[in-house]
Amino acid sequence: MSNKYVLPDLPYKYNALEPVISEQIMTLHHDKHHAAYVNGANAALEKLDKGRAAGLQGVDVKAILRDLAFNASGHSMHSIFWPNMKAGGGGKPGSKLADQINKDFGNFDSFKLQFGNAAKTVEGSGWGILAYDPLSDQLLTLQAEKHQNLTAQATVPILVLDVWEHAYYLQYKNDRATYVDKWWEVVNWSDVESRFDKAKR
Ligand code: MN
Repeated sequence: MSNKYVLPDLPYKYNALEPVISEQIMTLHHDKHHAAYVNGANAALEKLDKGRAAGLQGVDVKAILRDLAFNASGHSMHSIFWPNMKAGGGGKPGSKLADQINKDFGNFDSFKLQFGNAAKTVEGSGWGILAYDPLSDQLLTLQAEKHQNLTAQATVPILVLDVWEHAYYLQYKNDRATYVDKWWEVVNWSDVESRFDKAKR
């Protein structure tokens, strides 16, 4: 039988990221959207558990795996996204992450420009992602459509920005670009640094 996914609590209060991200957005985003991904992933696993018990008779494995990939990716991305932010965040990263960003992108502002552009131009719902690629020992900026498309499978995401409409629409309407530009003020660089150190090891 499969293990179950669990919805983590936010690591701060729902209003902690105001004024950049409103309490209303954070409440709906965590309690409704993230919870739905956890429940959806668990439902898919349960269908597979039951299906195997029946020898997969009449079980649409392909459809269930599509559901599982979508919901489990939604869960893992949000589990990175929440601690990637904090009240009074922003500024710049330090330590080895700063060195790697300078090496791979030239300097911090060039990185910000490229990551912000990735987030603003995702087609439809998706994510901007900074990931460490152990195959090439470098940082990559990536986009994800939905939660799981366009990824580079072996990379480790260390900084993710949710650009689904549910992440900003109540506050920023269709102005995704302003949301992305403001979001830098709540980035928790010490969380990103520790994810980078772990990925490097
Ligand atoms: Mn989301």
